[in-house]
Amino acid sequence: MPRSLSKKGMAVKPSSTLAITAKAKALKAEGKDVVGFGAGEPDFATPENICAVAHKAIDTGFTKYTPAAGTQELRKAVSDKFKKVNKLNYEPNQVVISNGGKHSLTNIFEAILNPGDEVIIPAPFWLSYPEIVKLADGTPVIVRCDASQNYKITPEQLAAACNEKTKAFVLTSPSNPTGMVYSREELEALAKVIVEKDIYVVSDEIYEYLTYDGAEHVSIGSLNDEILEHTITCNGMAKGYAMTGWRIGYAGAPADVAKVMSSVQSHQTSNPNSIAQMATVEALTGPQESVAVMNAEFNKRRIYMYERISKMPLVKCLLPQGAFYVFVDVSEALTKKYKGAPIADISEFAKILIEDFLTAVIPCADFGFADHIRLSYAISMEQIEKGLDRIEEFLNGLE
Ligand SMILES: *Cc1c(COP(=O)(O)O)cnc(C)c1O
Repeated sequence: MPRSLSKKGMAVKPSSTLAITAKAKALKAEGKDVVGFGAGEPDFATPENICAVAHKAIDTGFTKYTPAAGTQELRKAVSDKFKKVNKLNYEPNQVVISNGGKHSLTNIFEAILNPGDEVIIPAPFWLSYPEIVKLADGTPVIVRCDASQNYKITPEQLAAACNEKTKAFVLTSPSNPTGMVYSREELEALAKVIVEKDIYVVSDEIYEYLTYDGAEHVSIGSLNDEILEHTITCNGMAKGYAMTGWRIGYAGAPADVAKVMSSVQSHQTSNPNSIAQMATVEALTGPQESVAVMNAEFNKRRIYMYERISKMPLVKCLLPQGAFYVFVDVSEALTKKYKGAPIADISEFAKILIEDFLTAVIPCADFGFADHIRLSYAISMEQIEKGLDRIEEFLNGLE
């Protein structure tokens, strides 16, 4: 088969969130006053103390290859952070630093999956999980979790989805796109099933610092020694420290898993960026005030958005307790007509909003919920007000 493409590569769906964001950017470049609710990254600058250490890394020549799994200093800092903040007992040799949280997930699935292994992913889910699993030759098994259960999987659902092919379960708390947070009791019940079925849980905790109303982020691996042996914890610097562009993610895993992750990474990317690694040590061990400042600002926007959306016709949402998204059920709006014509589906809904109302929202078909949109509040209050006015105007005009 000369010059044919990879079936696996061709089967990958391009990220629809990035596509909407690109469209919004293009309209902005034409001078249009676009409001972008698509943002998947904090709108704050990386804290100065972190940037200063990156400058120092360059000035002192810390610009060479590092060990594949990351510098000893950073693996130790992450191990200490896991113990102190998350009550997770991962030693430095169980820590792997990678090029972003997404890359940590890639390494995790490459390390544990064999062809045909199943990975249980509760829907709504972050759209990259199924694609990453498929690229690692696994089979995603999607379990739908409705608003009536706060979009969270129950232990009964998890147990029912398990069979002899099940290798892992993906847990995201706080969740992107729903903003829901699992309580300690809910995690305890899920942990029992995980241990009983003897599968891995891949716990994506990238939004750990973004919780509100006293919701407590609990790491499932901290519950007891038994569940820790089944837990691969994935995290990163992007969301909590406004470091999306630095590309540093990290994982804690049973030692055998960590070793395979490191071997895989050693051939694929060698090591994460040396400068960003040094800056990350500062982020984790230096002053933490900026994390709380960002959290407080997100919280104000969260409350404003929830209150406004709750009063709008034809849509509903739950109050998010974490991350920076509101997950909005627009199923009723989809049954209405816009300018006399039915709205075909959620992508047309989003298309009307961007084209006629200059407001970018994320249609959530690729998140497993084809009648919901995701609105990010990682944009200024002023932009949020303007965008919500426009969405309201659109909804008011539906018949
Ligand atoms: C943003 C995000 C990540 C990781 O992002 P990176 O930029 O690769 O660190 C992982 N999981 C979820 C759910 C996210 O929203």
